[in-house]
Amino acid sequence: MGKISQNTIKSVSSINIVDVIGSYIHLKKQGGIYRACCPFHNEKTPSFIVNQNNNFYKCFGCGEGGDVISFVMKYEALSFYDTITTLCDKYKIELKEDGGNELDATQLETNKILEINKVTTEFFTYKLPNSLSHRLIKERGLSDEVISLFQIGHTSSLYSQLYKYLIEKGFTNEEVSKYGLCRIKADNTYYDTFRDRTIFPIHNSIGKVVGFSARRNIETMQPKYINTSENRVFKKSKELFGLYFAKKHITEKDEAIVVEGATDVISLFDNGVKNTVGTLGTAFTTEHATTLKRYTQNIVILYDGDNAGLKATFNACEELLKAGMNIYICPLPKDKDPDNIARELKNKTNGYIQSNKIEFIKHRISLLKDFNIIDKVKLAKELIRMINLHPDKITRDILLQTYNKEFGFNNTTKPKKHHTVLEIEKETNIELHLIRIILIYLNEWNILNYFNNIDKNFYPDMFENKRCLLFFEYINSEDCESFELSDFIHNKDVAVREISNLALGLDYNIENTEQYDIESTLYSFELKVAERLKNKILLNPTLDYKHKLKVMTKHENIIQQNIIKLSENKNQNILA
Ligand SMILES: [Zn+2]
Repeated sequence: MGKISQNTIKSVSSINIVDVIGSYIHLKKQGGIYRACCPFHNEKTPSFIVNQNNNFYKCFGCGEGGDVISFVMKYEALSFYDTITTLCDKYKIELKEDGGNELDATQLETNKILEINKVTTEFFTYKLPNSLSHRLIKERGLSDEVISLFQIGHTSSLYSQLYKYLIEKGFTNEEVSKYGLCRIKADNTYYDTFRDRTIFPIHNSIGKVVGFSARRNIETMQPKYINTSENRVFKKSKELFGLYFAKKHITEKDEAIVVEGATDVISLFDNGVKNTVGTLGTAFTTEHATTLKRYTQNIVILYDGDNAGLKATFNACEELLKAGMNIYICPLPKDKDPDNIARELKNKTNGYIQSNKIEFIKHRISLLKDFNIIDKVKLAKELIRMINLHPDKITRDILLQTYNKEFGFNNTTKPKKHHTVLEIEKETNIELHLIRIILIYLNEWNILNYFNNIDKNFYPDMFENKRCLLFFEYINSEDCESFELSDFIHNKDVAVREISNLALGLDYNIENTEQYDIESTLYSFELKVAERLKNKILLNPTLDYKHKLKVMTKHENIIQQNIIKLSENKNQNILA
């Protein structure tokens, strides 16, 4: 293998970008450009544009942009070389390489493994017709289309059939054993790794066979599945079985169904649930989550109904939460697996999944019905820990809301307070009263300084009356230069003018100011603010507990300081 020729790169980068990107995500034409929600960051309104005339894409949300090649590299997480070969394959462009002088040992080995796997796949699929494997998969109801699409194959019980074939095809003893297809015996003879099994080739995201998953044909045989041992191109913790066939459907449906086994994937696919991938019997990993995130944020976990399946579900949730995914669980009856369900329900399988899937928190809590209080507390703590794994604050808040609701914690909804008109007026009055005092004592007391010292971010929470809030924002703004009463009464800002007039005129008589004690007004205002802020924060269902704690502490400090300042004012007898 040499270096890809400049002409090939040129041809690839001039493939119509709308065709390429449109094959991954849904593009909407708007005038001369195409728009979509950006596949590289999480967004609700489309800021990702594709310009067909100049063959580039750009996201105004996250800044990602480039040409056909950079899009596919990023989207499929491929190397430059793999991107070019994939696009050449897909768009029928001849791949030309310059010379042979720049050989890369890694790429060479990768190619060798892919080649040996390709030949092996051909061998196994050739052996399938009329074999025991064929009979078994037909009994399981798999269609011929799916059998050929997934390149399902067969190996007999013969000892070194594949070995002989591969040697015949020019592979060396070292290669056949190193890449896991054959094993070596003490007497230096070779035998096939997979015997008497149904073969499921494992395709990577661009459709190359990177390994094999082999299911036993005789029920007494152990283990049930054997996978290819790991090598340069096959990492069990990274590959998702069926991704190559599912990715288009995952993008379309904006949802991926995750199952455990290869047979589950194929069976679901055959029964119309084509957005399915499988973890090949390993625990769900961070890499799996990262891979899926390229196609969707929404995951439905569909694992076996037994305890092992349940445990695997919890583990998968952790990884998916860390990756910022939205998780749903579709619980299955204890004795069922996805393959059973698909075979039973046929084309109703998808409907079953969609109507039975539930948010992971609801699922977790639903399992708790008969548990005692200690288990409940344990789970409550555990779920809070899990919720906090999610990197997005808004999602965490939403998860917390579900959590509160499912546990029956009452603080999700504000307790209904039945205010009478009078009470509301009384509540607001203290704010008006405060404004009145400020206005009257504008030049006599440093009350404005006192409010200047409060963090402006707290104003919105301190005042119930929106116009009072505007007033305090005004006295803190640069517009407020002189402190003359007329500046407020005739203010150009309607809200400031109105609230000033209201405070001064409505229920009070300006001549009677003396009857108001400034300190006690301020003091009761502070206490009221303290109370209101506390309730507001505690009752806010969208705040996570950490956030609540932080805001509460901050508020409390400020209020305490204010009260200290007030008593200092009193001691210094500023008003005298
Ligand atoms: Zn973006």
